[in-house]
Amino acid sequence: MKVLTYHNIDTPPKEAKLKTLYLKPKKFQRQLWLLQRLGFSSSSAEKFNLSEKEVLLTFDDGYKDFIENALPVVKKYRFRATVFIVADLVGKYNKWDWRKLNVKKYLMDWKDIEYIMKEGIEIGSHTLTHPFLTQLDPKEAIKEIEYSKKKLEDRLGVEIKSFCYPYGDYNEQIRDVVESVGYKNAFTTKEGPFETEDDPFQIRRLTVFGNMDIFRFGWKVVF
Ligand SMILES: [Zn+2]
Repeated sequence: MKVLTYHNIDTPPKEAKLKTLYLKPKKFQRQLWLLQRLGFSSSSAEKFNLSEKEVLLTFDDGYKDFIENALPVVKKYRFRATVFIVADLVGKYNKWDWRKLNVKKYLMDWKDIEYIMKEGIEIGSHTLTHPFLTQLDPKEAIKEIEYSKKKLEDRLGVEIKSFCYPYGDYNEQIRDVVESVGYKNAFTTKEGPFETEDDPFQIRRLTVFGNMDIFRFGWKVVF
């Protein structure tokens, strides 16, 4: 199975740094079209299927542009998707990196999240505040991992089974905390496919950058 990582599905604003985190909606649509043509179907983060022809679409951070620019395309091609939410910043903006990126990117509010859930999108946790987990005091790190799960569950009324490490930053202790507080799997930023023998708490993904053309995208997904 291949897990794809997306951030913003939108045209980057002029002042934004690191514009490759934005993928234009047209390009996103072409990618899902290609996946469908190549015979891929999509899995759920909570219960995935490890076949070679399986993709899992993941969206980090819970940006508001998901609703308008990603959801209709995901639905059109009958794919599934998982969005990782920063639980204390719901309805706010990317407080963790807006200075570095020179842009405030708005995050979905609770109503938005309830709406996309109704449309079949799965929700996972991306901590409370998007810190570098290995740099925190262990107590604080546990809070970020455990309380974000609780907060999302209390607010949304579903079990939150998937976790995503902010910045892909984790170590063995962090990984073990994620498992011990009740998540079923966790996603990293390490590049590669996910295979049967791999640790479900260190799932590798393929990051889709905005400057990737459709051939590179296809190559990455197939090989
Ligand atoms: Zn993130």
